Amino acid sequence: MNKKSNNLFQKILTKRTVFISFIIAATLASCNKNNEEMMTEAHTTTLHAESIKKGQLEGQTITYERKDGMNFFQGDIVLSDKQLVGDNSKGGASFSRWPGGKIYYTVASNMGSINANKITSAVNEYNTKTNTQWIPRTNQTNYVEFIFGSSSGSDGWAHIGFQGGRQNISLDQYISVGSVIHEMGHTVGLYHEHARKDRDQYVSIQWNNIQDGQAYNFNMYNSGTDIGPFNINSVMMYWPNSYSKNGQPTIKRANNTNFTYNRTGFTTGDINTINTMYP
Ligand SMILES: [Zn+2]
Repeated sequence: MNKKSNNLFQKILTKRTVFISFIIAATLASCNKNNEEMMTEAHTTTLHAESIKKGQLEGQTITYERKDGMNFFQGDIVLSDKQLVGDNSKGGASFSRWPGGKIYYTVASNMGSINANKITSAVNEYNTKTNTQWIPRTNQTNYVEFIFGSSSGSDGWAHIGFQGGRQNISLDQYISVGSVIHEMGHTVGLYHEHARKDRDQYVSIQWNNIQDGQAYNFNMYNSGTDIGPFNINSVMMYWPNSYSKNGQPTIKRANNTNFTYNRTGFTTGDINTINTMYP
């Protein structure tokens, strides 16, 4: 996007969420796919300082946002209350993997055919390229429901890993197939690439460009297991302008050059990571 639209976008973002539909209108009118992605994975949510909390996730103190009765980590990952109190009843794991790599799913009846088609495309990607199998639910107890978050954007999120019972992936009407794949990645158990322990060898976080109060989204997640090499093209990578307050990048390569985000689909590295988790 150009500088002009950045400035406009930024001004609008400082307003309350009641203007969210205006944001979308401005976004769609003036911007490219990048902005669309920014909205759909909920990485530009308006900050409510009173809802920023600290909790324990696998022994690490993390910062998250409490919103709508849910715990949002790194913007679009939803942690259960049980995960946050460090419950050890599941062997100390903050999430479990899906038994046998089988993930049963349903699609909310109000999803709409456009998003339903995107889900089908994303499911096909998982089923043909990874060892996870996404299977329409019949009567299984443990499953994912794709829900329609809103028609106004900023509602792409997912529960992380296998939760037990019903869990959700929320999509809004502007989400891309690549972002559906991203949210399904959280369901499979993936966190974000930029939060890896080794990320500072590959990327440089531009702290001065991050919106006030959002820096915690760029903290490393040390308790996770880094699988395979760092992959800046990962479908699980934040995009370069995530949470930018001034239109300037918040993440660059370690050599201070810009990178281009990928939301077209899996990279080989993403597939290898998932297949290491689900051999
Ligand atoms: Zn995400």
